[in-house]
Amino acid sequence: MPIKRILIANRGEIALRIHRAAHEMGIETVAVHSTADAEAMHVRLADHAVCIGPPAASDSYLNIANIISAAEVSHADAIHPGYGFLSENARFAEIVEAHGIAWIGPKPEHIRTMGDKVEAKRSAGALGLPLVPGSNGAVSDIGEAHEVAARIGYPVIIKAASGGGGRGMKVCESADQLETLMRQAGSEAKAAFGDDTVYIEKYLGNPRHIEFQIFGDGRGNAIHLGERDCSLQRRHQKVLEEAPSPVLSSEERDRMGTICAKAMADMGYRGAGTIEFLWEAGEFYFIEMNTRLQVEHPVTEMITGVDLVREQIRIAEGEDLSCAQEDITFRGHAIECRINAEDAWTFAPSPGQVTYYHAAGGMHVRVDSGLYAGYRIPPYYDSMIAKLIVYGRNRDRCIMRLRRALEEMVVEGVKTNLPLHQALIQQEDVLAGEYTIKWLEDWLGRREA
Ligand code: ADP
Repeated sequence: MPIKRILIANRGEIALRIHRAAHEMGIETVAVHSTADAEAMHVRLADHAVCIGPPAASDSYLNIANIISAAEVSHADAIHPGYGFLSENARFAEIVEAHGIAWIGPKPEHIRTMGDKVEAKRSAGALGLPLVPGSNGAVSDIGEAHEVAARIGYPVIIKAASGGGGRGMKVCESADQLETLMRQAGSEAKAAFGDDTVYIEKYLGNPRHIEFQIFGDGRGNAIHLGERDCSLQRRHQKVLEEAPSPVLSSEERDRMGTICAKAMADMGYRGAGTIEFLWEAGEFYFIEMNTRLQVEHPVTEMITGVDLVREQIRIAEGEDLSCAQEDITFRGHAIECRINAEDAWTFAPSPGQVTYYHAAGGMHVRVDSGLYAGYRIPPYYDSMIAKLIVYGRNRDRCIMRLRRALEEMVVEGVKTNLPLHQALIQQEDVLAGEYTIKWLEDWLGRREA
């Protein structure tokens, strides 16, 4: 069924991103916002706007009752959750569907399965994805923990089944630490996520983070749109992403992409998803699947020409995938810099009023942002204020253009991490594409010393 009016249950650049795709399809949009976001760009541009509560996310962007009421009063016939907030909340997806509103996202049961890391790993294994060696499901007793760790070899990582956002993980170097760390991991997981279930896997020493973008129609057809390399991370938060990965051959991309697409087809997966792997010594190891659009999706759009949000909306309308695997071609190279309102070197958040703003432009430069001069960045939410995405016919051209675009970008009134990105793309290892998930923190440590 064609969608006429989408309620966007999110804020910031992603709300704007969804609004843009909707308007290009002739679909109206409803912005929902907290009182702190009344002046936000997504609220200004949307066709309708509904205030859903006070600044705290738990009272507004996570407030299911208020969002559903907003959809009813504004006669929205679909909800797009963006990323974060309620995007991976299976119960929210069920409630939306129970109200006869189209959910622009995966089937609730798939969101639920992939949200539980033990279940996710079990399904991924059953679907033929390569796993990090580890326990077969949850580990509750210390004897079993010792057996698993001895079998896979130290170091191991103890992970919370309900963990997320880089939290709820403990690295264990040797058998004498195992009992203490297992106990700590369990009680911390209980406190943070209300669930003390933990599992064990081999700790990979120096991997890259490589993820595949997939799309399913929910009826047994699925495609992949290649990979993104998101190894440049600080505290498990991605800082800069690129596509394609500097280390994958096109044969490897085809091989792994095909495995991912087949797994999603077999599962009957619907909509956009990302399968995340650690990659070390030429081998892939599944870590998790995100059942939503990712922050870094534009780099995939730049090299494939596919509008991923448009595709999500089409699938929610019950349409077929707009292209078959053989229609997908990868051209050139794209890099995304996440621009945050924070001190570039201490990472202390820097909310406040933007006094001057100039976005980079020119050929193959894309800025996804709700910033404008005079905008007051609220202190209540994520510090990401813009994404700068640059394309080039090859990686060298892309980097030269990124350097130029970073010179042009001006944000005054608050601190930003633009200087971090400017320094980052001068580094030999980054220029050579030789970095792992440890690289950025090691480099920051060396800079400080
Ligand atoms: P979250 O859901 O919290 O993001 P993930 O399972 O995706 O958790 O892991 C987040 C990050 O933790 C990975 O990108 C990687 O940096 C690190 N990590 C996770 N599992 C392992 C492992 N087995 N070995 C080494 N590092 C790991």
